[in-house]
This record gives sequence, C-alpha cells and structure tokens, in this order.
Amino acid sequence: MEKYDLIIIGAGPSGLTAALYAGRAGYTMLMIEKTGPGGQIMLTDKIDNYPGFEDGISGFELQDKLYKQAVKFGLHMISDSVISIKKENDLFIVSTLTGKTFTSISVILSTGATHRLLGVQGESRLSGKGVSYCGTCDGPFYRNREVVIIGGGDTALTEALFIAKFAKKITIIHRKETFRAVSSLIKQTTSLPNISFIMNSVVTEITGENEVNGVVVNNIKTGAIETLKTDGVFVFVGLDPNTDFVDSSLLDKAKYIITNDKMETSVKGLFAAGDVRSETFRQIVCACSDGAKSAQYAGEFIDEQKGNSYQ
Ligand code: NAP
Repeated sequence: MEKYDLIIIGAGPSGLTAALYAGRAGYTMLMIEKTGPGGQIMLTDKIDNYPGFEDGISGFELQDKLYKQAVKFGLHMISDSVISIKKENDLFIVSTLTGKTFTSISVILSTGATHRLLGVQGESRLSGKGVSYCGTCDGPFYRNREVVIIGGGDTALTEALFIAKFAKKITIIHRKETFRAVSSLIKQTTSLPNISFIMNSVVTEITGENEVNGVVVNNIKTGAIETLKTDGVFVFVGLDPNTDFVDSSLLDKAKYIITNDKMETSVKGLFAAGDVRSETFRQIVCACSDGAKSAQYAGEFIDEQKGNSYQ
C-alpha cells in the first residue's frame, strides 16, 4: 500500500491550490481525480471575477495555469474514483474503483459539485440530443438557432451571455419573479437584444422525437400552459455535491460537508475545501482560499502526527 502525508481528492481550483501549498511546504502527496483537472471551471467560457486577470480568463486557461503551478511543486495525480475512506490506527485508507488502496496521515476532500437535473419528462431521453448542461461545450452548435435556458442563478445568466454570441434567440425561463444571480449579470443579460425572459414559470416537459423541438411551460402564477418551440434546452438549476462516498455523519441536509473555519471536518485529519463544503460562497477565489487553508491546517496536523511540530 502506498503511503503519503496527504491525499487530495478532486482536482478543481480548491484541490489544485491545496496541492500547490502542500507541495511547496514539502509534504508527500497524491491527488486522485475522477476525470481531469479543472472541475466546473472547465465548463465556463470566460471568468471575469478571478483577481489578477483584468480582461478575464477562460476556464481552460485558468485550469491549465493552476495545474501546471501545482505540478511545479510536486503534484502527482492519478485518474480514478474514490469509493471509500476509512480511518484505522491514525491512518486514512482510501480505496478506489479500480481496486487500489492508498494510505495517508491526512486527507482533503475537494470533490466539488455537479450540475443538477431538472427531472422532467423528456430530459434524460433527449440529453445530448438538444438537452445540455454546458453552454461552453454546446453553445456554438446553436449558431442562428433558438434556445431555452432554464434557471435564474449565476450559472444560467453567465452561460446565457456566452450562448448569446451564437444563438439567434434565447429565452430564459425562471420559476420566480426575481433572479438569484448577481445584479451585474442581470444588467448584462437584460441589455442583450437576443435574450428574452419568461418569469414565474417552470418547464414541465421537454418535447421532441429524436431531438428537442420544444418545451411545455407552465406559468405558476396564472396556471397558463403553453408549448414553446426551441432547438435546444440548457438546464442550469443548481448543483449537487459530490459526496456519495462520504460518511453521512459528516454531511448537512443537502449532503454538503460540514467544516469549521480551518476546513476541518469532525474527523481529525480529514478536511474539506471548495464547493463541496456546506454554507460556503461558491466562487473560484473562495475555493482557492479554502484549498490554501486546508493545506495549511492539514500540514499542521501532519506535523503533529509525525511529532515534528515547529512550535
Ligand atoms: P444556484 O445559485 O443554486 O441557482 C440555481 C437556479 O436554478 C435558481 O435560480 C433556482 O431557482 C433554479 N432552480 C433550482 N431548481 C429548479 C427547478 N427544479 N426548476 C426550475 N428552476 C430551478 O446555482 P448556480 O447558478 O449553478 O450557481 C451555483 C453556485 O456557483 C452559486 O453559489 C453561484 O454564485 C456560483 N457561481 C458563480 C459564478 C461567478 O461568480 N461567475 C458563475 C456561476 C456560478 P430559485 O432562485 O427559485 O431557487
């Protein structure tokens, strides 16, 4: 069994920042990542609220920079899915889907969150056939075509701005009277001529035989039901945390991991950072901050366990 000071699970901005800090401090570490580095930022075309990039930066470019910087300080990453974490005799035992087992003194959970499904008829059948969860990936397919976007948060409006570069017409359908997204995004989206809004309404069905051709929209105030023709449907209705393998005693009601200000969970030596944390401000800059803090306090814990505290 390979033994490390630290295992970091998940290679989004929080995990990569934790790796940078832990590597720079000289700890041996392993990162286990299910797909590839970047996490949700890989689904974002342009990030203009990450400090230091006055003209914005693409999700891919930021991921590339974070990853290369962590590698420079010793990041070693493997591609695998973690299926369980146990603690035995002061060591964490991390098991993966491919049957590998690793041990470490400390673990940082930085597995992030994944887009939520709308859960209506037609959604899963037409997924990839006009139903999408990634504007950056699929927006360019809708040049001069019409799309519907569902949701009223930062993701829905950020993605709408990107898709608006291609689509002839975008209709944003939101279940409330007001948006959850920040005002700057509301201003930008409402000022574009090819974006219109249907408020107080939910989509109850996505229609089409082999590809999307419409949505059934229910106005929840008036009860009116209409079918809207569309070529594509983008669903941005929030996130679910990636915590399937985490013991339920560490989670809040929505299955996010509960931590204190030091990113500690209730298990000594087990930390969480980034979007997977309960009650956090889900921004890239905050994920990076969480990553730095989790590495710092994991480092202190590792030193204590090894008996080489500098105090
Ligand atoms: P979110 O903030 O949770 O918003 C989800 C939206 O979907 C809400 O408007 C919600 O409506 C709606 N919704 C949820 N379930 C629905 C359903 N079943 N049917 C119809 N509508 C539904 O999720 P998000 O926009 O993905 O953002 C997630 C986090 O990432 C947030 O903390 C956000 O600030 C952050 N983020 C930041 C940036 C940025 O800074 N540039 C970009 C993207 C995301 P209600 O409002 O009625 O609940």
